[in-house]
Amino acid sequence: MIPVRTRIAPSPTGEPHVGTAYIALFNLCFARQHGGQFILRIEDTDQQRSSAASEEKILQALRWVGLQWDEGPDIGGPHAPYRQSERGAIYLEHAQRLVHEGHAFHCFCKADRLDGLRREQMARGENPGYDGHCLQLSQAEVSERLAAGESSVIRMKVPRQGVCHFDDLLRGRIEIPWSQVDMQVLLKADGLPTYHLANVVDDHLMQITHVIRGEEWISSAPKHQLLYQYFAWQMPTLCHMPLLRNPDKSKLSKRKNPTSILHYQRMGYLPQALLNYLARMGWSMPDEREKFSRDEMIADFDISRVSLGGPIFAIDKLDWLNALWLRELSPQELLQALVDWRFHPDYLQSVLAQVQPRLQRLSDIVDWGGFFFRGLLTLQAEQFEHKKLSPEQVRCILQCLLWACERSPAWQHEFITSLCQTLSERMEVKLRDFMAPIFLAIAGQRASTPVMEAMAILGNDVVRARLRHALELLGPASQAESVAWEPLLQGLV
Ligand code: GLU
Repeated sequence: MIPVRTRIAPSPTGEPHVGTAYIALFNLCFARQHGGQFILRIEDTDQQRSSAASEEKILQALRWVGLQWDEGPDIGGPHAPYRQSERGAIYLEHAQRLVHEGHAFHCFCKADRLDGLRREQMARGENPGYDGHCLQLSQAEVSERLAAGESSVIRMKVPRQGVCHFDDLLRGRIEIPWSQVDMQVLLKADGLPTYHLANVVDDHLMQITHVIRGEEWISSAPKHQLLYQYFAWQMPTLCHMPLLRNPDKSKLSKRKNPTSILHYQRMGYLPQALLNYLARMGWSMPDEREKFSRDEMIADFDISRVSLGGPIFAIDKLDWLNALWLRELSPQELLQALVDWRFHPDYLQSVLAQVQPRLQRLSDIVDWGGFFFRGLLTLQAEQFEHKKLSPEQVRCILQCLLWACERSPAWQHEFITSLCQTLSERMEVKLRDFMAPIFLAIAGQRASTPVMEAMAILGNDVVRARLRHALELLGPASQAESVAWEPLLQGLV
């Protein structure tokens, strides 16, 4: 029997997403249940968007929720390297093999031709896709243009007729007409692979037997199946999990719900409660009990108990579950949980450095430092009334800061300071007045320790949640206001 091997393959392009932990958990349980291995692979082929800092955060966040992998970039393994950016030669060789065997071709089309083609197709109401232009080139012409150093990509050949079908462990047979499948670029002009090539080659070389991933990848499956056929490799079993959804059923997005694992960590959720909650997303224990640990889940795991109706990520349910877990901690465990959360020396020291100049008595620490430990604050709309600022200006300030927060991975003190300064100048508001609503939204009071530093210490996620909370109270930007206010951020984020 071939040992079961599953994997999680995050792209390090932002904050660690709860959806990544959710999919990783199901891969881990499936592998463990079969006595197999679970692998972590970093898919950083998008060089512009990938960063080492994001990779580090993803690894840390997955470890924090209690997921452990058997092979990965941090611990190595028999199929190293586990970072796609270090495997370039492997993909190049495989792409060339496909060209050589007639399954892929060089395409010299320039961006303007492809853009024009896309526009025409859209205007005709067709699916945009490559029209096979360079398929007609003769071997001699291709060799000549390559020798002359003309830039090209490698695309896979895709049948134009018929229907692709493949099996999904949860969904059974899925059919997608080939006419909906594009002649995917496999290798870009810079020699780097796209997701599809790197993913298939690595899943094969890393001997992955089951690909358990989000349902957004279903439309990629025909390309992958074709690549497995071209390479004459056996395709792993596919299993597409239902996507996490906002309460309004839309795909879970950070505009409606915080999606970063770090956010939940900072807001004071226990890792075991968050993991338990993610397990409950579309899956249930045979006895339907709500509270269970990772190991209990592994012991009772059965992938066929995944239900395909889009699971709703609802914070009140998570709160309820977190409370159950909190109540059951021993006094020592609770103390340790608090230390791990915000009562460890590093965080305390950064807060104390802010608060110390304000202290008359040690007990003042609660008044001056309390907001460094809170989740969301209790605020009233009237508190935001300001002599020098109109209600629109107050909302504009908070909204622009929220947008900046959502868009900027770098959230250091210097960045926040220059952001606030520039925004206040562009709005022609004195910095002191500009900061007033920010003090309220972030610290819950008009006077606090320096709020720009506090924002850096609290972290992007908490700041984002508090700004969003204040705007819910005051009313977020309307469509017309968004159009008017967005330009204020130009060049800043
Ligand atoms: N790198 C992809 C992602 O970011 C992996 C998708 C897959 O599991 O194939 O989700």
